[in-house]
Amino acid sequence: MIQLKSITLHRLQMDLNSPFTTSFGTVKHKDFFLIEVEDQKGNLGYGESVAFTIPWYTEETTETVLHIMSDFLIPRLSGKEFSHPDEIGILFNSIKRNNMAKAAVEGAIWDLYAKRKQLTLSEALGGTRDKVAVGISLGMEENITNLLNKIDEYEYKEYNRVKVKVSRDKDISVLKEIRRHFPNIPLMVDANSAYTLDDIDHLKRFDEFDLMMIEQPLADDDIFEHATLQKEITTPICLDESIHSFTDVNLAVELGSCRIINIKSGRVGGLSNAKLIHDYCADNGIDVWVGGMLDAGVGRAHNIALASLTNFTLPGDIGSSAHYWKKDIIVPEVNVVGGQISISEQVGIGYEIDWKAVERYRIDKQTFNLK
Ligand code: MG
Repeated sequence: MIQLKSITLHRLQMDLNSPFTTSFGTVKHKDFFLIEVEDQKGNLGYGESVAFTIPWYTEETTETVLHIMSDFLIPRLSGKEFSHPDEIGILFNSIKRNNMAKAAVEGAIWDLYAKRKQLTLSEALGGTRDKVAVGISLGMEENITNLLNKIDEYEYKEYNRVKVKVSRDKDISVLKEIRRHFPNIPLMVDANSAYTLDDIDHLKRFDEFDLMMIEQPLADDDIFEHATLQKEITTPICLDESIHSFTDVNLAVELGSCRIINIKSGRVGGLSNAKLIHDYCADNGIDVWVGGMLDAGVGRAHNIALASLTNFTLPGDIGSSAHYWKKDIIVPEVNVVGGQISISEQVGIGYEIDWKAVERYRIDKQTFNLK
C-alpha cells in the first residue's frame, strides 16, 4: 500500500519563447505548480498544474488550483492508504469539478506509483507505443507572412500536422493563403469557441480546405449544438473545452456532436479519467489525440506517456521543449526527431527534474506534511 508523507508545491513562473495568441487572448508566461509527492519510503513523484492565471480556457486559475489543492485535496490524502492511482479520484470525489487541481496532484501520484513498480509511466498506463507522433499548434500572428514562415519551419522539421488558431476575422482568408502555399500539409484549425450556430453558412466554407478537423467551433459549455453543426459540415468536429468528464464524452458520442476528441488530463481530472475516456472512444470509433496547455517539462512528460496508448491515433500537441522555453525544467529536454518523440526507458515520467532551472523559476514553495 502507498501512504504519502508529504506534498510540496513549487510555484514557478516561466516566460514563453514567444507569446501565444488564440481567439480569447495572448499568453506570455506560465505561472503554475510543480507538485512533488513523497511516500513514507522516500519515493518521489512529480506532476504539473496546467491552469492559466486568467480563467479563459476553463474556470480554473493558478490561484484556484492552489486553494483547492491546499485546502481540500491535500488534506484528503492525510493518513490514507491506496494501492493504485485510480483510487485517488474516489478520494477526491466529494470535491466538485476543479479538474486541473485534481489532475495536478493525481499526476504526481501516477509518477510515484510507476517508479515504485519500476515501470515507465507509459507502461503503468498501458501504453503500447515506443514513439509518439506529434503536431505543432501555432498561435495567431500579426501578419500572414509570419504564419507562413512558421509553417514552413515546422513542415521542414517534419511535424505530422499543423494546427492554426482561427477567429471570425482571421479564418477563411488565412486558410486560403495557407493552402495556396502548402496545398498538401495535414492541417487543422482550433476556434476556441469563436462561433455560434448563426455562423453555420460561414462554417460550411471551411469544408473546402481539406482540414483534418475543426476544434471547438461553438460554445465551451455546449454539446447539443455541435451535433447540429456536425450534420451540416463534412469537416470532422473535435471537442476540447466542452469535455470535462466521461459523462460529457458519452453525451457527445451519443448525440453525434463530434468525430474526434482532444483529451487533456488536466481538463478531465487526471490520467485515470483520461484513460477511461480513451478506452470508451476506442470502443466507439472516436479518434483521440493529446492536447497541450503550454506545458513545462513535467506536464509534457505526462502527455507523452498518455499519447502512447493505442487509440491516440492522431498526432498530439506535444512539441519539443525548445519550441516553448529557453530552458525547460527537465533533463534531458523533450526532443522531436522526424516528427516523433521517443518514450523514455527510465521509470516514471522518464525525465529528471532540473533543480537548478526550478530554483531559477521558483517564486514560492510550500510543503504539507501528511500524518
Ligand atoms: Mg483547443
